[in-house]
Amino acid sequence: MAAKKIKYLLIGSNNAGKVREIKQLLPRYIKVSSIIDYKIKSPKETGRTFLQNSFIKSKYFSKKTGKICLADDSGLEIDILNKKPGIFSARWGGKNNDFNLAIKKVFRELNKVDKKWREKKIKARFICALSIHGPNIKKVHSIGKIEGKISVKKIGTKGFGYDPIFIPNGKKNTFAQMKFRDKFKIDHRARAFRKIKKFL
Ligand code: IMP
Repeated sequence: MAAKKIKYLLIGSNNAGKVREIKQLLPRYIKVSSIIDYKIKSPKETGRTFLQNSFIKSKYFSKKTGKICLADDSGLEIDILNKKPGIFSARWGGKNNDFNLAIKKVFRELNKVDKKWREKKIKARFICALSIHGPNIKKVHSIGKIEGKISVKKIGTKGFGYDPIFIPNGKKNTFAQMKFRDKFKIDHRARAFRKIKKFL
């Protein structure tokens, strides 16, 4: 059965910022709560793809609570790094989720592959996989992508994660230079939500 007429959704994330953002992307008539209120720890992300990890989370939280749960998994793929950091995007930031550390690692890995990478267009994309799991709901999911390139250095102070090194195609600035409301309209998350809304 499709997930039509969902009136209540549990967001499968312990990250308050992400939960706030997701609330804004959902239709207003849907009541939203998050697993932060349930004090449930996140499961291990053992999948090989963004979608698998998203399903691991939505299934796990839905089973624990009996509620319909929406979970996401997202990250940055860089083509000449064989799509890394990919599903390891958060983990490249170490235990403290230090985004500076993650970006340094990106530059280190690019230097290892090609010392002259700064003279080339380093193709990359952000991906967001969403899934909904719960009583009477099967296989509701969507994927959103935004293509772009890696900036030669960190630029901008807005946003989070890899925003300071990602320039979307057709733009001159990194995500970290854009106003939140501008990034929010075009990014991978917005695209994934636009698709999954059809099921809501
Ligand atoms: P998740 O919470 O497991 O989905 O991990 C996502 C990770 O990917 C984050 O910790 C960031 O490092 C990175 N990421 C995902 N979306 C974005 C974005 O919009 N901007 C910058 N980094 C992002």
